[in-house]
Amino acid sequence: MCGIFGYVGQRNDAGSLVIDGLKNLEYRGYDSWGVACKTNGKVTIEKEIGKISTVERADFAQQCSLAAGHTRWATHGGVTKLNAHPHANSNQTIAVVHNGIIENYQEIREGLKQKGHSFVSETDSEIIPHLIEEYMKETDDFASAARRACKDFDGRFGFLALNTESNTLVAARRGSPLIVGVGKDGYFIASDIPAFMEHTKLVQYLDDGEMVVTDGTNIIFSDLETGEEIQKREIEITWSVEQAQKGEFDHFMLKEIMDQKESVARAVNQNEDQIITLAEAINNAQGTFLVGCGTAAKACMAAEYFFSVIAEKHVNFAPASEFKLYHHFLKPESLLIVVSQSGETADVLEAMKIAKSKGSKVLAICNVEGSTIDREADYSLLINAGPERAVASTKALTGQMAVLMLIAYAMNDKLREGQKLLLETSSKINDMLNPRYVNFIEELAEKIQDKSDLFIIGKSWNYPMALESAIKIQEVSYVHAEGFAGGELKHGPIALIEEGTPCIALVGNDEVKADIISNAIELKARGGFIVGVAPENNEVFDVWIKVPDAGTAQAIVNIIPVQALAYFLAVKRGKDPDMPRNLAKSVTVK
Ligand code: GLU
Repeated sequence: MCGIFGYVGQRNDAGSLVIDGLKNLEYRGYDSWGVACKTNGKVTIEKEIGKISTVERADFAQQCSLAAGHTRWATHGGVTKLNAHPHANSNQTIAVVHNGIIENYQEIREGLKQKGHSFVSETDSEIIPHLIEEYMKETDDFASAARRACKDFDGRFGFLALNTESNTLVAARRGSPLIVGVGKDGYFIASDIPAFMEHTKLVQYLDDGEMVVTDGTNIIFSDLETGEEIQKREIEITWSVEQAQKGEFDHFMLKEIMDQKESVARAVNQNEDQIITLAEAINNAQGTFLVGCGTAAKACMAAEYFFSVIAEKHVNFAPASEFKLYHHFLKPESLLIVVSQSGETADVLEAMKIAKSKGSKVLAICNVEGSTIDREADYSLLINAGPERAVASTKALTGQMAVLMLIAYAMNDKLREGQKLLLETSSKINDMLNPRYVNFIEELAEKIQDKSDLFIIGKSWNYPMALESAIKIQEVSYVHAEGFAGGELKHGPIALIEEGTPCIALVGNDEVKADIISNAIELKARGGFIVGVAPENNEVFDVWIKVPDAGTAQAIVNIIPVQALAYFLAVKRGKDPDMPRNLAKSVTVK
């Protein structure tokens, strides 16, 4: 959540460089933006409410070599210009951009007020430059003052502070990601790699409990508590700039849906020995738990079925945010499988902490290499989906499910069979996502765009996909959508069906097909307009969205047309699918 990006070095276009980089982070928050530059020895700040994508580079013509900027996802204080970051100290020598929450900010602010500081915003963040300023009265050293300030803060945060006097950037991290980009002519510090990807692919990761200080020539990493210096490796990232761009598509969401022509195959391309080792670890574990949030949680739920049907193994799913009280089940022989696109999800990190405190091992499945979850897990598998920029997760979900399914096959000594099935599924997805198919879904969206409610039913692994379909439709189109297990309908939700209510049935050629078709018939009998997502047509369907028959991988295939439907519903209803209201990608607060 929230985009942070700063630069210090020899370039003299730091302001516009930061603006450009922040545009690549807009998916992390977009209610307001701001940039601080060092000009004439002081901090000058420009900030505005609204999206940074509308800001022209030319608006930032001022020459500077030290800048820090932010795209906000408000937690404390409304979306106003005054609350937008950066925030500065009293004499305009320090500017701070902040991600996360300083939980004890009220108390600190009161103390600072008594010392003569005044505040202009309602944010928790504004105390940071003031507290650093206060500590600089005792030590002239900016980095030491910032370190001391951090010791006073409760909560999870990441911030970047610039100081015009020492011409330095300081970044500190306790819970929110920050990454350094090593450039030819200076250093970049950002909350996510796309900010500086066009300038450098060499990165250094800041770990939790660390800080970094740089003047553009030298850089020093240190422990936030002790101040002890830490040596960092430079790592070369493999994502390309093109992968992180929209290309010919109007929105990232559509591009990422279409990326699934290849991304499932990339997810399947795993080191076989590693998959077998992990499969054995799950087989030998005494209790395996699957946790994730939002869409990744639906991949975990689907995997419960994969492990049951394919590996005949019981695993327990829990939303990461609900995991806290499960620690009573955990022991050193237990295994926690965590799934996260960004690898930075706060609730997932919390679940990992709980598991580690019990001595349990953690297997991570995520998309972002070098992310906190990737680095902190005992074992880690990357889904290799490439950057996912739209807030609504699409290709990450199918990649996560493919990897989980592959493990399930390996657990039953059938890795080859799993690989074959998933690679065949990948080529079927490639065929399915042709222009005619996409047009067909767009036309359906046109037809149902004015409906205020939409229901989705599924059974077995299509049940979590029904829940996921609902999330997708809700988050981008704002249509009220709900997913149900088909069999649950008559226990309540069927009361909501009226003449013409669109109902999507997710169907496979499997042992539950007859049941789910019966459920669709029940919906139709109450007036439901039935959209069947199925390999074969059925007379109950008013509209048939044909999907390839993918056997045990049907869930991976069935969700894709619904992702496209959600996308087109958003567009037809005049919403921006890439930046849905109230949401942001990579949820780093609890
Ligand atoms: N808590 C801070 C605020 O509300 C930071 C929000 C963010 O992470 O964007 O301003």
